Amino acid sequence: MKRVYNFSPGPAAIAQEVIQQAADEMTNWRGCGLSVMEMSHRGREFTEILATAKNDLRELMAIPDNYKILFMQGGAIAENAIIPLNLIGKKSQPATIDFVNTGHWSVKSIEEAHKYAKVNIAASSEDSGFNHVPARDTWMLTPDAAYVHICTNETIGGVEFDFTPDVGNVPLVADMSSNILSREIDVSKYAVIYAGAQKNIGPAGLTIVIVRDDMLGHALPICPSAFDWKMVDEHDSMFNTPPTYPIYIAGLTFQWMKRHGGVAAMEKNNIAKAKLIYDYLNSTDFYINKVPAANRSRMNVPFFLKDESLNGKFIAEAEQNDLVQLKGHSSAGGMRASIYNAMPIEGVQALVAFMKDFEKKYA
Ligand SMILES: *Cc1c(COP(=O)(O)O)cnc(C)c1O
Repeated sequence: MKRVYNFSPGPAAIAQEVIQQAADEMTNWRGCGLSVMEMSHRGREFTEILATAKNDLRELMAIPDNYKILFMQGGAIAENAIIPLNLIGKKSQPATIDFVNTGHWSVKSIEEAHKYAKVNIAASSEDSGFNHVPARDTWMLTPDAAYVHICTNETIGGVEFDFTPDVGNVPLVADMSSNILSREIDVSKYAVIYAGAQKNIGPAGLTIVIVRDDMLGHALPICPSAFDWKMVDEHDSMFNTPPTYPIYIAGLTFQWMKRHGGVAAMEKNNIAKAKLIYDYLNSTDFYINKVPAANRSRMNVPFFLKDESLNGKFIAEAEQNDLVQLKGHSSAGGMRASIYNAMPIEGVQALVAFMKDFEKKYA
């Protein structure tokens, strides 16, 4: 079976072992005579799949007992509305939400929040082209804000938080869609963590929400029941039919991670992968990445060819070398290599070798 190195930002590469196991179990899950896709979500088999996935995620991220894990739908973009709907109900209206604006995905969250609340931009790197994370001591927070929202990894700009901000007693909410499970974090520093699954976990269609239990029960009355975290939690993520197959694949990914040393081992590998590519970028001016070292994302590495007229050749020749999906986001241009947990270091070595060859050929 021919497999290429897939640098797609999302839906993204899934570990080869997981794809193979899913293929082996596709038509008959562990002898029960059914594919997971056909199972009742309330049946014995799927109940076990869901419980195991949840327990494994709790173990991998060391999620404390007072946090709920919810398997939802709608992606991170739906959560941008679901979060204010769930968190501002007990505030005098309009409530204020503090945002730190670090790029494309922060902007999306901010635009959506405007529908429900007053938005305060506590800090922004917009003036410098969203190339860094503003230092914590520059943030102008609102003392009685409903919550502070950050995006810990800007998937398009390739800008990642290198610290967990202390925001006092105000709940900290984080969009971790593109770096969840890629590095060790202290979950207890956050009130809410959310992530679409299709970057670092599994197929599109599943959204992971990790929420501290005192954040439940603050929803606005207009919050749709299926999006009310308290309701979802009371029904163990089965208020309505959950995305069963993506949950199953996510569960296989969690088991794959456990077999390979958990988050600590993933992080070590991710540091090594990122170092390979950034070290090379530092050594040449044929390619450009303008993010300062401290905020360079380990997951998404955007870069530009100094001579942009070579962009088409770069993409075409990369594909001939089985290196695919390297084109940058349409809003950013250039190239982007997304190197999530499932990208083996051999894939990054192959990319860097190709980039060096390409430089030799066209510099
Ligand atoms: C991909 C991404 C999103 C959008 O997720 P959807 O599943 O398309 O809603 C939001 N935030 C970040 C950080 C992302 O990487």
